Amino acid sequence: MINKKELISSINRLKSKKNAIILAHNFQSEEVQDAADFVGDSLELSQRAMKSKAAMIVVCGVRFMAETIKILSPEKKILLADKNSSCPLAEMINVGQLKDFKKDHPGAVVACYINSPAEIKASSDICLSSSNALKVIEGIEKNKPILCIPDKYLAGFIKKMTQREIVPWNGYCPVHVSISPKNMIALKKEHLDADVLVHPQCTPDVIALSDRVLGTGQMVRYVKDSKKDTFIIATEIGINYRLKKENPQKTFLPASKNAICKNMRLVTLEKIFHSLRLETFQIDLKPEIMKQARACLQRMER
Ligand code: SF4
Repeated sequence: MINKKELISSINRLKSKKNAIILAHNFQSEEVQDAADFVGDSLELSQRAMKSKAAMIVVCGVRFMAETIKILSPEKKILLADKNSSCPLAEMINVGQLKDFKKDHPGAVVACYINSPAEIKASSDICLSSSNALKVIEGIEKNKPILCIPDKYLAGFIKKMTQREIVPWNGYCPVHVSISPKNMIALKKEHLDADVLVHPQCTPDVIALSDRVLGTGQMVRYVKDSKKDTFIIATEIGINYRLKKENPQKTFLPASKNAICKNMRLVTLEKIFHSLRLETFQIDLKPEIMKQARACLQRMER
């Protein structure tokens, strides 16, 4: 059996030979984050891919992330390190259900979370991420209802922060929903000086305990600039590794040690190696879907 050091050397050899890079999401395991050329949230990964001169990209994340990267960097070979790494939230609405949802709300604008499959992006008007959601929603033509899919908690958070008419779809992220207020209240009592950072996919009772509601990319930037020493972090626990690595003098307390996305954690060093060696699992999307989904993503950038 090949040891970890040899595995990393083999990965690096294949990367140079094939002009490849590895992009990993903030929720990946420690060893996958360490092996990556860049770690970020889903939007940051796709932006980094666009800037890269690599011919091949191994995506350590879930399928919608690799699809988004392919849509925005169609000339590159995009590989998903594990073919089964899908996001349960992204699968909570399908194209037929979206069609019916639109029929029930004629004239509404469909704003889909970046955590959506390519086909859903292609059937939506505009995309949003957890870091730019409010800005995107505020930029939508006034007096139009907005169908916010698929995460009802993200939609509920946006609704509270704007005057816009938001109609949520009934989806949720099982990992963020598993974070309960109980442990957070205890942590807050124990660490009176801590800043509480909560992801907008958490439930309203968890959001109510926050000092800031931020996407993971925003959390990374906020912590770096903050004068505080201690942070309670309510999102998937993988982010804590990155936060500690980049801010070794600060303390990060996960709101729930069980908030682990098992779909994200399907990716391993072995799978990255096989992905690079065999050039699997390639993301291949229909040209029409790519075109429509790209337009949806690009509207977000304006
Ligand atoms: Fe999907 Fe939630 Fe896992 Fe993110 S943490 S990939 S939203 S299930």
